[in-house]
Amino acid sequence: MKISKRYSRLGTESAFEILSKAQKLASEGREIINLGIGQPDFSTPKHVVDSCKKALDDGYHGYTEPNGTLELREGVSNYIQRIYNTKIDSSRIFISPGGKPTIFFTMMLLGEEGSEIIYPEPGFPIYKSMINYSGSKAVPMYLKEENNFSFDAGEVLNLINDKTRLIIINNPQNPTGALIDEKEIKKLVEGLRNFPNVCILSDEIYSRQIYDGKKMPTLLNYPEIYERLIVLDGWSKSYAMTGWRLGWSVWPEKLIKKVTKLAINSYSCVAAANQVAALAALEGSDEFIDNMMTEFARRRELIVNGLNSIKGIKCIKPGGAFYVFPNVAQTGMNGEIFAEKCLNTAGVAIVPGTSFGKSCTDFVRFSYANSYENIEKSLEKIKKII
Ligand code: PLP
Repeated sequence: MKISKRYSRLGTESAFEILSKAQKLASEGREIINLGIGQPDFSTPKHVVDSCKKALDDGYHGYTEPNGTLELREGVSNYIQRIYNTKIDSSRIFISPGGKPTIFFTMMLLGEEGSEIIYPEPGFPIYKSMINYSGSKAVPMYLKEENNFSFDAGEVLNLINDKTRLIIINNPQNPTGALIDEKEIKKLVEGLRNFPNVCILSDEIYSRQIYDGKKMPTLLNYPEIYERLIVLDGWSKSYAMTGWRLGWSVWPEKLIKKVTKLAINSYSCVAAANQVAALAALEGSDEFIDNMMTEFARRRELIVNGLNSIKGIKCIKPGGAFYVFPNVAQTGMNGEIFAEKCLNTAGVAIVPGTSFGKSCTDFVRFSYANSYENIEKSLEKIKKII
């Protein structure tokens, strides 16, 4: 069997491998606390589950429009209006099975040999994996600890050349939890006036996980770049619906038919009953998100203070998502050894920084999507092994 050369360029997301390792150790009788996986540890709101059950009873069993039902796309349009006070026509909205296909399809549409795509490092590993798969050259924009893992718009603009097709930004950010300041985003958008052929993919999947009463600095607030802007969002993190596989995205008018064709060629459409549930989530009250964020904020305090109290660990307090990305270099271990020791000796699963970029050797990612008690316990266990 001959496998395509292209396939050998595909990477992966090691959080899933760590999850399997942790599950294996747990099945052998070890007590393992999982701070590795990036999914809210809350159940999907009951009214959402109920609406899906009802949809199945009501006969939502068939194919739907490949870009999502009109009802759901209009629901997303209304949601965008409610949250951001911005009008996006439902014809530019695309429903996909999770947020990931938006990354896949963007690369399939824009990436190819001879072109370049700028992506954040540290960053969600699928960006680089998919850029490589497309044949494009992956150009890192380094998010530095001394900048609170935000980017400097001037530095990003300096990376652009005539081969650049796309810039990927992710805000709030995985794995650092950084919330990039509106000021920097504004500067980037202004600078992009000089590069009219460069598109932007703004991954805003953590848009509802923002602390300290700050507003989400969405790229949807910049109509001047709508003809080259793709915004990725979805239900996975906001409504604790990772396993439902539901994402929404906003596309330039020119690309919407093209991305729909990619859907027809791959999965046809998102499960009909899930789309009914997705609409129920958007139209329901924000109480679920508010409660989830109150709890995440409590845990953020605990984990940031707890990690900073351990000798050799330095942890920045993040402005969004549910991750921290501490520097562990002063413990005498690099991130990979630290993560291995955490799992094998302390029984705490975390992800080494290098899973998010080669340059991140000094770091590890903790997800605090686990109970307050388990986070307390993990901190005690880690303290003991340092
Ligand atoms: N983008 C980022 C930054 C993520 O962290 C994730 C999931 O962890 C995704 C996209 C994909 O989300 P989904 O599970 O909806 O495909």
